[in-house]
Amino acid sequence: MRDDLRALEGYHSVQVAADVRLNTNESPFPPPAGWREELATALHDVAWHRYPDRQATALRAAIAAWHGVPGERVFAANGSNEVLQSLLLAYAGLGRRVLTFEPSYQMHAQIARVTGAAVVAGERRADFTLDPADAVALVGEARPAITFLCSPNNPTGIVEPPETVNALLDAVPGLLVIDEAYAQFAGWSALDLVADDRPLVVVRTFSKTWSMAAARLGYCVAPAWAVEALELVALPYHLDAATQIAGRLALDHVDAMDARVGQIVAGRERIAAGLAAVDVDVVPSGANFVLFRPRRAGGRAVWQALVDRGVLVRDCSSWPRLDDCLRVTVGTPEENERFLAALGEALAEVTS
Ligand code: PMP
Repeated sequence: MRDDLRALEGYHSVQVAADVRLNTNESPFPPPAGWREELATALHDVAWHRYPDRQATALRAAIAAWHGVPGERVFAANGSNEVLQSLLLAYAGLGRRVLTFEPSYQMHAQIARVTGAAVVAGERRADFTLDPADAVALVGEARPAITFLCSPNNPTGIVEPPETVNALLDAVPGLLVIDEAYAQFAGWSALDLVADDRPLVVVRTFSKTWSMAAARLGYCVAPAWAVEALELVALPYHLDAATQIAGRLALDHVDAMDARVGQIVAGRERIAAGLAAVDVDVVPSGANFVLFRPRRAGGRAVWQALVDRGVLVRDCSSWPRLDDCLRVTVGTPEENERFLAALGEALAEVTS
C-alpha cells in the first residue's frame, strides 16, 4: 500500500439500528411508482450481452435538455463522487494543489489525496460563511489546480452567495468546481454561469432530490473542453446500461421530483422552527438537512440520547471545526415530528 494512504482514515457514516434514520441526507420518499414500472419494463429489453453505450448519449442528451444546455457540456458517472474523482484525475493529481474551504464535504479532500494531489484547507468564519476576500487571497497564495465550493455546503447547509462564486471565478488559476448535490433545495444555483469560456464546473447528483441513491448516478455541467478531459480519464463503459436507463426515465418525472423537493423544503422549515424553540444554535440551511449545536449539552451525549429514542442523526461533534454539532436529514413529516419530540426529551435528559 502507498505510504501516503496509511494516514487517511476513509469515509464512513456510523450505522446503528434505528427506527428513524436521518443521518445520510437521502430522500425519505421512494421514487414515483410509474418510474419503477417503466424501469422494470425497459430492463427487459436491455441487450445484456453487449456493452452499454460508452458515451451514455441518450442520458446526457436528456440531462442537457432538462438544463437547457448543449449535450457536449454534460458528463455522467457513478454518483457525483465518481464525477469528483474524474475531475481530480483529469485536473489535479501528483504535484498539483487542491483548495477546499473547511468545514465542507470530506470527500473533496479525501479523493484529492487518494489521486495524489496536495490539499490546502482554507478556513471559514466561525458562523461557517466564507469571506470572499480571504478566499481570493488564498487562491492567490495556493494557486490550486482545482478550487472546491460546496453549495449548499455539507454539513452546514449554507448556500454560497453569487458574489463569492463570481469573485472566485475571476481569481482561480484552474477550475472552480461547485458541488451542488443539494442545490435543488436552495434558492440559487451556479448552473447558469457555466459557459465554454469560464473555468466553472457544477456537479449534481440523482441521489438526493431524485430519490435514487441506490442507482449511483451523478453528472456535471461543464465547459465542453472539460467534458472532453473527463472522457479521457473515465474507464471504458463505466456507466452501466441500467443506470443510464434509470436516469433517462427519471427525467420524465420532473413534476414528481419538484413535488418531493417542495415537501422536503417544507419539512426543513418545520425542523428549523422546532429547533429555534429549543436550547440549540441552528445554522440556516438551503439543503435537505440542518446542522445544530446544543448550547448546554455535549453533542455526543445528545446524539446517544436520540439513538436511545430510536432516532439516528449524523454525529459531527468530533469533526474538526464542528465541536458538538449534529446534523439531521429532513425525513417524512412523521419522522420530523419524532425527531423533534426525541430531541426535546434528549436535551432535558442530558442538559446539566
Ligand atoms: N457531494 C456532496 C456534497 C454530498 O453530500 C454527497 C453525498 N453524501 C455527494 C457529493 C455524493 O453523492 P453521490 O455519489 O451519491 O452522487
